[in-house]
Amino acid sequence: MPAAPVDLSVVVPMYNEQEVLPLFVERLRPVAEAWGVTYEVLCVDDGSTDATPVLLQRLRREWDAVRVVRLRANAGHQAAISAGLARARGAYVVTIDADLQDPPETIGEMLHVAREQHVDVVYGVREDRSSDTAFKRVTARAFYRSIRALSDVDAHVDAGDFRMMSRATVDAVNSLPESNRVLRLVVPALGFPSASAGYRRAPRAAGDSKYPLGKMLRLSIDGVTGFSIAPLRFATWLGLLGGVAALVVLLYAVVAMLLGNTLPGWTSTVVIVSAVGAVQLLALGILGEYVGRTYSALQARPAYFVAHDSLELEMPTPVTDDDADAAFDRVVSQTRT
Ligand code: UDP
Ligand code: MG
Repeated sequence: MPAAPVDLSVVVPMYNEQEVLPLFVERLRPVAEAWGVTYEVLCVDDGSTDATPVLLQRLRREWDAVRVVRLRANAGHQAAISAGLARARGAYVVTIDADLQDPPETIGEMLHVAREQHVDVVYGVREDRSSDTAFKRVTARAFYRSIRALSDVDAHVDAGDFRMMSRATVDAVNSLPESNRVLRLVVPALGFPSASAGYRRAPRAAGDSKYPLGKMLRLSIDGVTGFSIAPLRFATWLGLLGGVAALVVLLYAVVAMLLGNTLPGWTSTVVIVSAVGAVQLLALGILGEYVGRTYSALQARPAYFVAHDSLELEMPTPVTDDDADAAFDRVVSQTRT
């Protein structure tokens, strides 16, 4: 494999982050300059509709390490990170939120750990989540608990999307066929050697959360169905349980008939019918979730579309005569074969 053109790529998904972007840059830049490695700051503009793209263009003129990949439409946090991973050139790649909830200062420590301990992944682990709302903490906990219980993935309970990955890890993630990746599960599922770096989760520096409850729920469902068929099995167990219950009721009905008590029955009938109906609907719903996922996996629609990449806009065009001749020869030889 050819050596990576930069030592470190910092992938930052951004969606309408005009308030926080200047603060983020102010904090990241001095830290980055102290790393002592070559790096690119790959800002993935996830179809922002505010001043973010303009700010990024201006930033690029002031800081040549900045690279901007603009997505054509808002694709979501995970897809934006995936786009960044697909294009990052670093020997190591770190993904970090733009809102300063993940401290840029930790990146240096992650790099140190990755190199010293020869691990492929360094997870940023939140040691203190007191800045998150109680609701966020409870739902996050429930999410990781259920994932750990339902699947074989050993995802760290307090690790989010702040992590450093080696080139081999990024290549592995990029090679995965699924487009709706839940990276905080996909990466641990690879099982590559890993370590962790603790950090304090800070409150958002400015602007509002781009993660409403709906998106959070979507992430959980993607996570569970992407890594576990336990819910399908749960449906089977429910069905079995319903079957056993129905048998008991049947026995009761037969005995009652033999004893001549056939008049009462309305209540039990209604109860049974609705219980069976509920179980069936639930089972169908779970099944539907997987059928739906199979369907979209078959369609294989990309999770994002790239509008432009500042690196490609700046690609040198052949200028010298030799370059032009070489390019001409290439075209000629290609048309011959
Ligand atoms: N983000 C994104 N696309 C989206 C939503 C969010 O790229 O559709 C980015 C956002 O700009 C931020 C990161 O993902 O850098 C995390 O989002 P946010 O801080 O709003 O989520 P929270 O921390 O509230 O879970
Ligand atoms: Mg945030």
